[in-house]
Amino acid sequence: MPSIMWFRRDLRLSDHPALTEAAAHGEVLPVFAFDPKQLAGNEAVSRTYLYRSVRALNEQLDGRLCVRVGDPLTVIPALAREIEAEAVHISADYGNYGRVRDAAVEQALQVPLVRTGSPYAVAPGRVLKADGTPYRVYTPYYKGWLAHGWRSPATHATTKFIGLNADAIPDDDDLGTLRLPAAGELAALARWQWFREHGLSDYADHRDRADLDGTSQLSAPLRFGEVHPRTLLAGLGDEKGHEVFRKEICWREFYADVLWHNPRTATEYFDERFAGMQYDTGKTAEARFDAWSKGRTGFPFVDAGMRQLLAEGWMHNRVRMVVASFLVKDLHLEWQFGAAWFARWLRDFDLASNQHGWQWTAGCGTDAAPYFRIFNPVTQGLRFDPDGDYVRRYIPELAHIAGKQAHEPWDLIDGYSNGYPERIVDHAVERDEALRRYSDIKG
Ligand code: FAD
Repeated sequence: MPSIMWFRRDLRLSDHPALTEAAAHGEVLPVFAFDPKQLAGNEAVSRTYLYRSVRALNEQLDGRLCVRVGDPLTVIPALAREIEAEAVHISADYGNYGRVRDAAVEQALQVPLVRTGSPYAVAPGRVLKADGTPYRVYTPYYKGWLAHGWRSPATHATTKFIGLNADAIPDDDDLGTLRLPAAGELAALARWQWFREHGLSDYADHRDRADLDGTSQLSAPLRFGEVHPRTLLAGLGDEKGHEVFRKEICWREFYADVLWHNPRTATEYFDERFAGMQYDTGKTAEARFDAWSKGRTGFPFVDAGMRQLLAEGWMHNRVRMVVASFLVKDLHLEWQFGAAWFARWLRDFDLASNQHGWQWTAGCGTDAAPYFRIFNPVTQGLRFDPDGDYVRRYIPELAHIAGKQAHEPWDLIDGYSNGYPERIVDHAVERDEALRRYSDIKG
């Protein structure tokens, strides 16, 4: 009897434990269900990336991917009945939404829902402290994660895929001028190969430099499971760059673990004291948010990051930290507003990494940067974009300024001659204000 391989955040054919498991039992119907509830949000960028990734998977399957548009709760059991499947195979989903959905589908099925593997090298919930409680701090988690270890990549399954009539994959959203890189497993593996050859050995030195192509850009492929983290980990050795890259992969696993243990932190403060801090609201706050979101704060490094987001659906990690710090500590807005904007525009939007990346920067998360460590947006720019190339790449109004001076247009006679906006706040004043508000809640 055939079985169903229900693809979700695992849009690939290699290193795919659930597919290997399904193939071991005979013919496989590959299925992808577009859940209207998940498609209805504001997130046109990641949705379009998903469409493209599903199209790429369908091409790899020679058009045999059985696409359905509909609630998986009805679609998957109906397909299982239609082909008289003996089982439905999935990679386990540990997300807040996915695990509830899977439990409901499992109830509705008359055949087993078989979970094999996950989107992580080590599944959330596995690495625990000696006393059996979850970690709240990254470095000890990392040590526990290393000690736990992970399996080697799954062997490539020789699978006999069968096809069935399919719905059409929805059309891409209109993304305007935003450009996405190629989606799909083959593009992800090509980028990984390029990065291994050209980026990995310098990764430790280059990963914080916003002006360089010094990071893997594999966050969207990891988000959609076009590549499994174990595939990446299996290609790493002991050199410095490799070790630092392994640690970054672990951040993703740590945050998934934190969200698994604390689902409420998708929307709430991990450190609840921060819910009681004073935040700005009202017209001025709204106008400041608007300037931040459009890359018009008057701080070049912040604005370049926000414009990179709108142009590419991606932002360099260092700049994500700086723009997040700016929103929370210079503009005194709650992190959830920024996280929602990121969710809307990031092609790699991932609930665990995003919400906890924001909370880390805001000082209210696990392992948080101390609240009083407030990024100076100008010195950060001078340090991580030392020649101003990143700023000029995304801000045409500053393209006439040579070198690092692009970070400080206020020091030049013609700094504003091309219409770049003046600073919307005084960083030194807002830094003191942030510290004053913090002193009200610490204790
Ligand atoms: P690389 O430097 O090549 O790192 C390799 C991989 O490690 C990444 O692809 C990613 O999967 C993982 N990784 C690296 N840094 C982190 C980190 N700090 N936290 C978690 N995982 C990490 N990452 C997302 O994947 N989705 C998000 O929605 C997201 N939102 C963020 C929001 C904020 C405010 C901050 C500060 C960080 C956020 N990150 C998010 C983490 C990080 O910025 C991105 O993973 C990274 O920039 C992706 O680029 P890359 O693939 O070139 O990373």
